[in-house]
Amino acid sequence: MPESSIIAIGNELLRGFTVDTNSNWLAGRLFALGYPARVITVVGDTDEDIVAAIQDHTERQSLARILVCGGLGPTPDDRTYAAVGRALGRPLRYNRMIGAQMQNLMFARRIAGLRGTAELNAGNRKMAMLPEGAILLSNGHGMAPGLAFALDPDRYLFVLPGVPSELRSVFEQEIEPRFLLGSQADAVAELHYASAPESAFHDVMQALEREYPDVSLGSYPQTERRELILRATGPDPARVKAVLKAIRIRMTRYTPLEA
Ligand code: AMP
Ligand code: MG
Repeated sequence: MPESSIIAIGNELLRGFTVDTNSNWLAGRLFALGYPARVITVVGDTDEDIVAAIQDHTERQSLARILVCGGLGPTPDDRTYAAVGRALGRPLRYNRMIGAQMQNLMFARRIAGLRGTAELNAGNRKMAMLPEGAILLSNGHGMAPGLAFALDPDRYLFVLPGVPSELRSVFEQEIEPRFLLGSQADAVAELHYASAPESAFHDVMQALEREYPDVSLGSYPQTERRELILRATGPDPARVKAVLKAIRIRMTRYTPLEA
């Protein structure tokens, strides 16, 4: 199964001001499309850290889709296009079409009026300075375009805006239909227990790990709801179901809640 990874960029994420909802949303979509995330990295608005994270992920050949998000805006703390260019060894070029689109949006969104000028400033122009060889992904909700780079045959790095609505738009309109259709999602099945101690499941789960190496089995206590969730995932739905059935049979002391 092809794997993916996510690099989320922003000081506000590292400092606890903003919850990294983009990684969570992307991870769910990538799993459902059969490109489960293998690793998620969060870095601040620091050029060397963004470059290092991109190099680290691109060196891992098993990562077939790498999604970089955040830091595409017009302020100096938004450095992602330049860092991607450095990490991939692709110089930046001003894209006139993106510049023109931005100019139109300045009027459509009344930014020209608010700023007192329709001229693109250095911050706006930076958003059209894109690494060479980028495939443009249109952003239906904002100014910053998404980008795709072909790294190897069937291996891509994507750049997405950090604004959650823009990120979702670029992902759903552009990335999903063009780059994420070739795989099959793992099957998922769960057992829910009301106040069962998870430690009670240790021996059974350990045995099942050995008997079903192709099924991943995890225990997720929901402490506020006083509920325990056991979740199995794997490529073969019958084997995933068989694991849950084995837990029911071997753990007669606890009866799962009906789904
Ligand atoms: P930026 O991508 O730096 O231009 O950020 C634009 C807006 O999106 C800011 O309000 C960020 O805090 C927010 N944002 C950026 N990255 C994330 C993320 N991973 N999860 C949630 N919000 C984010
Ligand atoms: Mg930012």
